[in-house]
Amino acid sequence: MAAKPKTETRGFETEAKQLLHLMIHSLYSNKEIFLRELISNASDAVDKLRFETLSNPELLAEDAELKVQIDFDEKKRTITIADNGIGMIRDEVIDNLGTIAKSGTVQFLESLTGDQQKDSQLIGRFGVGFYSAFIVADEVEVLTRKVGTDKDQATLWKSKGEAEYSIVKANKAEPGTTVTLHLKKAEKEFAESFRLRNIVKKYADHISIPVLMEKQEFSMPDEDDKKDKKKTPKQIKQYEAVNDAKALWLRSRKDIKDDEYKEFYKHVSHDFEEPAVWSHNKVEGKLEYTSLLYLPTRAPYDLWNRDAARGLKLYVQRIFIMDDAEQFLPLYLRFIKGVVDSNDISLNVSREILQKDPAVDSMRSALTKRALDMLAKLRKKDKQEYGKFWLEFGQVLKEGPGEDFSNREKIAKLLQFTTSESKGDAQDQGLEDYVNRMQEGQEKIYYLVAESVKAGRHSPHLEIFRKKGIEVILMYDRIDEWLMSQLHEFDGKQFQDIARGELDLGKLENKKDKAQQEKSEKKFEDLVTRIKTHLGDQVKEVRVSHRLIDSPGCLAVDEHDMGAQMRKIMAASGQAVPETKPIFEVNPDHPLVKKLDKESDEERFEDLVVILFGQASLADGVELADAADFTSRLNKLLLEAA
Ligand code: ADP
Ligand code: MG
Repeated sequence: MAAKPKTETRGFETEAKQLLHLMIHSLYSNKEIFLRELISNASDAVDKLRFETLSNPELLAEDAELKVQIDFDEKKRTITIADNGIGMIRDEVIDNLGTIAKSGTVQFLESLTGDQQKDSQLIGRFGVGFYSAFIVADEVEVLTRKVGTDKDQATLWKSKGEAEYSIVKANKAEPGTTVTLHLKKAEKEFAESFRLRNIVKKYADHISIPVLMEKQEFSMPDEDDKKDKKKTPKQIKQYEAVNDAKALWLRSRKDIKDDEYKEFYKHVSHDFEEPAVWSHNKVEGKLEYTSLLYLPTRAPYDLWNRDAARGLKLYVQRIFIMDDAEQFLPLYLRFIKGVVDSNDISLNVSREILQKDPAVDSMRSALTKRALDMLAKLRKKDKQEYGKFWLEFGQVLKEGPGEDFSNREKIAKLLQFTTSESKGDAQDQGLEDYVNRMQEGQEKIYYLVAESVKAGRHSPHLEIFRKKGIEVILMYDRIDEWLMSQLHEFDGKQFQDIARGELDLGKLENKKDKAQQEKSEKKFEDLVTRIKTHLGDQVKEVRVSHRLIDSPGCLAVDEHDMGAQMRKIMAASGQAVPETKPIFEVNPDHPLVKKLDKESDEERFEDLVVILFGQASLADGVELADAADFTSRLNKLLLEAA
């Protein structure tokens, strides 16, 4: 006799208890989703098996029907979800079920605030899949056998959803996976025919394999009936499919309800939240394919992780080929989820082949346009919803103009900013909005790059623009200066950084302004030279400013020098930052500057110059080279004034 296989007890890889507790708590009002997740996994497992049989047809008996079967036992309070999909070997069970939610869990737990409400929103970004079983069950068993392995090579995994699980070798007659939930007492309502059927129907209609449940006999439940049942011998159970079992994307758009689209999204994206919008298209012609693209509501926790999974679920002639096929969309649209089903790609395609397939290239550019159109439509239709999208994904979309030359203008139309005229700091103004408001004679789109929206609003560079009522776009996202180095014009209008180069307002300035400027430049020629002597090589140049109204001075960037934001990004990534010096501009109409011009005491002159230059640096978010010197000179002047 063979020895009884040894049961091994193992701990979950991460703080399972904490995560499970949080999940159970945050999904409390929507418990039934456990069934969606388990059916979704069963369907994935069947997809994977179908794919395997492309190269190993012997894995599947010819008459075998791939399916999911759901049973329940009211008395024992159990529900079982059985599939005849790919199954798992022991190591896969450990990897897939023993590591709660895989990579990123630790960061996720660290990001938790302890505030139940905020945290439950976070969980949506995370996707807990299989573990949602513990919302309703106090014990879960998974009996699984990989296709192509022997009957006695199955694995039984059990856990009470606490810190550990047990795993033991087992027997299983057929390949596939059976998940058994032992329901908590309070959740016994789920092991009831009517309730269960309704949930399955709700969550499985878009699934492409049949989900079977025992056939129901509809009879009036009266006392006689009950007695009768006791007498009849046990019948063989009859099953029927509760769902349509047709791949959702192959159905016609007009026959699909919004709820079905939403549920299907949750299945393909492993997201708990609803999508914001979707776009479903069938393409016929030279290439034939169907695509269903979704825009998620919320960014996943790993949006900024370079190795995070992205891309579409790829099907070829209805057969699942791979998850995360990233060749179909550019990186700056990595937040888009969905499915593409092609008739032109070979069934035994690999990631490497996809990269070289010209059909994939054309599909990629068509899908990119679709995705951008979907965003444009949302922006037009629902400003508020678009605002939410922008908050979540705007920074990613800003990578677009640099990555995708051919769609530059299209992407630019989707960008949103705050401007000098905005009330709060909401980024809700598009470039078209700006252009529509441009003044008569205004030829350029003006913008200012700053450390923060507040710093931008208070920047001395805005003074002349405010006075003349010219709107300026405020840019303060880390990526903005880089973005603007990729975007040169919009709608035929050039962009102009207002802190860069000499101020040139073009037709917005009249002859009188110009004459006045030339006059003050002449008048202060000597002063400018004197200041330059004192500041030495701290500055590239000193000049009379035409952009200041209230401030005595400001710093400008030379036409082709690198701005502060870009320098910071380069420094942070460890690259050598080219040395640049600012241009110091002084306001010829400011009393302090006028006073400076008359100052004959060289020491006092220097004190004032250092202070004015220091102020201008601070307003620009630049650290002072010698803060102690600045302070002592300032104090000296303060004492004299006191
Ligand atoms: P996800 O579905 O997002 O990958 P889950 O937590 O739902 O995450 O499942 C984790 C993994 O466990 C799956 O990726 C899969 O590899 C494995 N798995 C879960 N259920 C099954 C099943 N019924 N058959 C085969 N593998 C499964
Ligand atoms: Mg899953």
